[in-house]
Amino acid sequence: MSEEQLVVRKIKEGTVLDHVEQGRALKVLEALNIDGKDGNVVTVAMNVFSKKLGKKDIIKIENRFLKPEETNRIALIAPKATANLIRNYQVVEKRKVEIPDKFVDVFKCPNPTCISNSNEPISHIIDVVKKDPPTLKCRYCGRLLSPNELI
Ligand SMILES: [Zn+2]
Repeated sequence: MSEEQLVVRKIKEGTVLDHVEQGRALKVLEALNIDGKDGNVVTVAMNVFSKKLGKKDIIKIENRFLKPEETNRIALIAPKATANLIRNYQVVEKRKVEIPDKFVDVFKCPNPTCISNSNEPISHIIDVVKKDPPTLKCRYCGRLLSPNELI
């Protein structure tokens, strides 16, 4: 078995996020609200050799099957990521992340005077105005945002 195969060794049940941009794994976990507190095994591999990306990060989340609306939360952080759903060691579904119509509580508006940054108990909602190239807009203050301002 090659080194790459060892690192990406299949899990029995759960979700493998592959082709995550190098260095973005922890941001991906944060966007997915995965902090390990539910007790499931989460394995993070960073800087793994990849033919496609040069280097990549891989995240294996055992016993959880992430839905498209969950994995799409990472579409700006890891646009080339693929989600592999594994059941009994077999890949039963493979899908690419897609940019959703809006991001709810994934990113904070960078405008310090925006009401979403006050102590009001409101969600951070960033609407997607255009998907290619990604153009975003804070629902509250209307500021136009590029992915780099959010990540
Ligand atoms: Zn705002």
